[in-house]
Amino acid sequence: MLTCCICNKKIGRKEEGHMFSHKHNQLFLCEKCHSAKEKLQVNTEGKIEEIQKNRKYFEELLYIGIVHVSAKEPLQNLLKEAENAEKESIQYRFRNKNLLSTTGNSFEGYYIAEYFDVINTELVLNIGMFSELGGEICDISGKANNIVAQKISDAKEEALELLKNRATEKGGNGLLGVRFDVINLIENMLVISASGTAVRIHKKEHSSSINSI
Ligand SMILES: [Zn+2]
Repeated sequence: MLTCCICNKKIGRKEEGHMFSHKHNQLFLCEKCHSAKEKLQVNTEGKIEEIQKNRKYFEELLYIGIVHVSAKEPLQNLLKEAENAEKESIQYRFRNKNLLSTTGNSFEGYYIAEYFDVINTELVLNIGMFSELGGEICDISGKANNIVAQKISDAKEEALELLKNRATEKGGNGLLGVRFDVINLIENMLVISASGTAVRIHKKEHSSSINSI
């Protein structure tokens, strides 16, 4: 019987397990450990909590000592990488926090030093309204509209975050002409797209000194 090299859970057939890595192809992971391992990587969406949570999951298993002896070293290496991934993600979040965005084409008090590409991002949104309304379909017009509006608003926020990540990757610290489009894909499925121009901006110096006299 095959067992997970991390949590010792029975896997059953070999096909149901996941290889630890190509290098460690004799070590198998259960579904849970595999998906936790996947979430240890750097993510530009800045989901640091994901990395931390999954790092803790593995650290606890290491601590209680059920990790298979041959999996200990590769797991510890993986956790070291995850620690770096966490730091990188924190840097990402910090940079994004300082990124300015506007629907217009300039920033008050800043000049544009460099233009990068127009960037865009798309999110598919399942508004599946009936599942959330349960038996209250009679109230559909008001309540459903609110739920959908909230979901669209959340998706727009998420799309903007992704857009900021892209801008940061390009070396920008500003986004001009941000716009959102909502497209009806199929029933209950919307595409939220966001676009903007990534730019590098610098603060103008002495800009107000002339007027302030
Ligand atoms: Zn496992």
